[in-house]
Amino acid sequence: MQIFSIFGDPVAHSRSPLMHNSVFKANNYPACYTRTHLLDGAKLKETFFSLGLSGANVTVPHKEAAFVACDEVRGFAQKIGVVNTLVNENGKLIGYNTDADGFMYAINEFPNIKNILVLGAGGTAKALVSRFLEEDMAVTVLNRSATRLAYFQNLDCQCFTWDDFVLAEYDLVVNTTSAGLNSSDLPAPKEIIHNILQNTHYVADAIYGKRTPFLALAHEKGLRYKDGADMLLGQGVLANALFVQGKLTHEAIQNAMQKSFAL
Ligand code: NDP
Repeated sequence: MQIFSIFGDPVAHSRSPLMHNSVFKANNYPACYTRTHLLDGAKLKETFFSLGLSGANVTVPHKEAAFVACDEVRGFAQKIGVVNTLVNENGKLIGYNTDADGFMYAINEFPNIKNILVLGAGGTAKALVSRFLEEDMAVTVLNRSATRLAYFQNLDCQCFTWDDFVLAEYDLVVNTTSAGLNSSDLPAPKEIIHNILQNTHYVADAIYGKRTPFLALAHEKGLRYKDGADMLLGQGVLANALFVQGKLTHEAIQNAMQKSFAL
């Protein structure tokens, strides 16, 4: 029996155990997936091995710590320094990032996205922005504080804090902050959010399982919007494929995981 887990703080809200266990159960795959509340990201690696895990996912706020903890990082995660999926390969911790491709899958339904405003500058923003730039999209990043913007200033992005924000027109605005996850906060002051929503076609939030105050405002304004559920599904399918290493088809994983969203 293989054991998998999700690490985060908070982690009680995570749907990952349900999603991955649904795949294992539907396909008679000998594994179970649990959750681990981890306060200190520096303890990720020792906790992973002390629990005897075969793999794990990592959520807020430990994705950058997960990158540091890995013995080897592969693919897109290497480019962005952010890891959301860990695999135990012969006692070595191997890191991947499946968030960005999961998000591209989620926004497929919004046509002609060329100009994106990203709210937030954490691990999720790094993953998504790098992926958007690979698709030749124009990207603006707006964050509460300046420190984390340095990373995006080195990429081909316009960067603002709340204090110096200059509004433009966008095809899509994406909330990657954790504002609204466990609070009634908007991802920026109300006046800024109001103006942004007047100037975009589509709205997306990385947060899933609830209508955040940000999405509630988008709804009030009659905009087309979506929460992070499809992103969660997309990243989960890709992560599960890494966990089972070819023993289940992509289709079998996706079908079972999709069904878990109705539970
Ligand atoms: P990080 O901790 O790396 O980054 C958090 C970001 O949010 C920072 O830019 C921070 O700004 C900003 N922030 C935090 N609180 C507030 C607030 N009250 N108001 C404005 N800005 C705020 O988090 P992640 O990037 O890992 O995750 C962000 C969100 O995305 C989480 O809610 C997570 O659940 C969700 N997510 C969903 C996924 C899905 O599959 N649907 C996948 C991945 C993430 P500052 O720099 O000023 O501190």
